[in-house]
Amino acid sequence: MFLKDRTALVTGSTSGIGLAYARALAAEGANVVINGFGEADAIEKERAGIEKDFKVKARYSAANMMKPEEIAAMVGEAEKEFGAIDILVNNAGIQHVAPVDEFPIEKWDQIIAINLTSAFHATRAALPKMKAKGWGRIINTASAHAFVASPFKSAYVAAKHGIAGFTKTVALEVATKGITVNAIAPGYVWTPLVEKQIPDTMKARDLTKEQVINDVLLLAQPTKEFVTVEQVAALAVFLCTDAAKSITGTTLPMDGGWTAA
Ligand code: NAD
Repeated sequence: MFLKDRTALVTGSTSGIGLAYARALAAEGANVVINGFGEADAIEKERAGIEKDFKVKARYSAANMMKPEEIAAMVGEAEKEFGAIDILVNNAGIQHVAPVDEFPIEKWDQIIAINLTSAFHATRAALPKMKAKGWGRIINTASAHAFVASPFKSAYVAAKHGIAGFTKTVALEVATKGITVNAIAPGYVWTPLVEKQIPDTMKARDLTKEQVINDVLLLAQPTKEFVTVEQVAALAVFLCTDAAKSITGTTLPMDGGWTAA
């Protein structure tokens, strides 16, 4: 329970990796603010489940990560209730798969806004209180696509490379303030985000579902296994420990060897 009396805000945490981060941080005693879209009943079940399972406070913000004013309001509300956000996890993300010359302009704009620019807005809003406390952890979800590319994912790869650069820059700015800033770069993790891109990849590459899973997704991953959300969340928890206080400005791969190749 080393995070008792800390507060964590995790963007995009109504499912997948974000939900696992929120639960793992709550398991260490942190109060959490979850965020994201989905069925109201399902979100309320997750929120109440965190409170019941871990005896912490869990709040939900419906802020849309495409809207800077909603991001600032989400941070402001969390600070009003909890004093400061000690741990900010910029995790919300979407994917779209299409050749660049057919890439819908609005999809490009959405991916850059949600996967990259929302991290800027949340960090910008949360940093002053972290600086005042002299302690903070900012953890951004990057991807193996912060290091390497795959065809048909131009916006996603651009956003994730951007997250790696943003992470380095903020880390340097706050290096003497007790705040670390890192990104985690998972390979393929079995979540709704991956499941949803299978039909488009089937279309773009003219493949069956099994071929996409084995010959496209797991082809890149030498372990031939999906990373689990619990593994990603455990790394985030480690980054919050004192043992990790000298780790800053990094993008840490957890990709089954993908980017070693
Ligand atoms: P997911 O689809 O399960 O979760 C995405 C979350 O973001 C959901 O809670 C969703 O509601 C939320 N979200 C989407 N648009 C939003 C918006 N406009 N405003 C607020 N919330 C919004 O996907 P995931 O796989 O858990 O992805 C989480 C992060 O991990 C993303 O940044 C993704 O790029 C990254 N990632 C995923 C994988 C993978 O293989 N699944 C690999 C590397 C990186």
